Amino acid sequence: PFDVLIVGGGPAGAAAAVYAARKGIRTGVASERFGGQVLDTLGIENFISVKETEGPKFALALEEHVRNYDVDIMNLQRAKALKPVAGLFEVELASGAIVKSKSVVISTGARWRNINVPGEKEFKNKGVAYCPHCDGPLFKGKRVAVIGGGNSGVEAAIDLAGIVAHVTLIEFDTRLRADEVLQRKLRSLPNVTVLVNAQTTAITGDQKVSALTYSDRASGEEKRVELEGVFVQIGLVPNTEWLKGTLELSRHGEIIVDAKGQTSVPGVFAAGDATTVPFKQIIIAAGDGAKAALGAFEHLMRS
Ligand code: FAD
Repeated sequence: PFDVLIVGGGPAGAAAAVYAARKGIRTGVASERFGGQVLDTLGIENFISVKETEGPKFALALEEHVRNYDVDIMNLQRAKALKPVAGLFEVELASGAIVKSKSVVISTGARWRNINVPGEKEFKNKGVAYCPHCDGPLFKGKRVAVIGGGNSGVEAAIDLAGIVAHVTLIEFDTRLRADEVLQRKLRSLPNVTVLVNAQTTAITGDQKVSALTYSDRASGEEKRVELEGVFVQIGLVPNTEWLKGTLELSRHGEIIVDAKGQTSVPGVFAAGDATTVPFKQIIIAAGDGAKAALGAFEHLMRS
């Protein structure tokens, strides 16, 4: 068996692998797509000490760094169950294979919920964005929409209003669902328009986004907003469906972890976007992966 089996090969899993391998323990990484969400990212400008890079380049660098150590990388492997068996953990892969380990670090990340309207896919990274911390500055002085009136949508709108020329917040429901304090702050901003009861129907443009159309659900009328960017903020879904009933999850499906990345099952650690750790960013996930690997190592020393 492995000493540490890491499930997920994004920034969190890669950092966990390097930290575990450097302790001289048997380390494996099973992941569906090594690199994770970073593979879908165009520019990265907020990983400290790296002024500017591209997602695929960063993902390759993660893998190269891990391959520099004696780590067993199992690519294109999806985990579908985790079970404690006779003092070990068994991770069952979709292929049917079973991988055994004394401890596990789960770093299966998350995915942004898509709005699934025409134009969303076509204009991804060409005006359609999901992460205001990452892509907000690209829209400096421009007009954007934020789709979604929950806490993350309203926070995104407030954040973006400080950078861009104008923000249109679009909510499907008849009212915003964000906390009142956020709504109050939002309403105090001069360059924000809030549309409720509005269903986004398409994102349009030529090479890049130039407009968004929505239907006014009260009147049924189709309307159009000219803009350069659309931030979709209708939820970040953790990739933890396969763990339901095994580990304690939050009501959003995030793996509940303590300060050392320990989950509700001793010997199982978790890191990055799949967990309750706040702020979903590369540098945070990477630091978190390092922490969970050290947590797993400490667990192995004591057991
Ligand atoms: P992920 O990157 O999601 O990696 C999860 C890993 O687990 C992948 O290898 C995946 O294949 C694997 N996996 C999932 N389920 C399973 C399973 N059942 N079995 C096996 N493997 C599985 N952050 C920044 O800091 N700066 C940016 O500029 C930036 N831009 C972004 C742009 C976009 C378009 C997106 C989508 C995100 C961006 N982010 C950015 C956020 C950042 O990418 C994430 O916070 C970070 O990748 C999280 O790392 P992670 O390792 O926790 O998870």
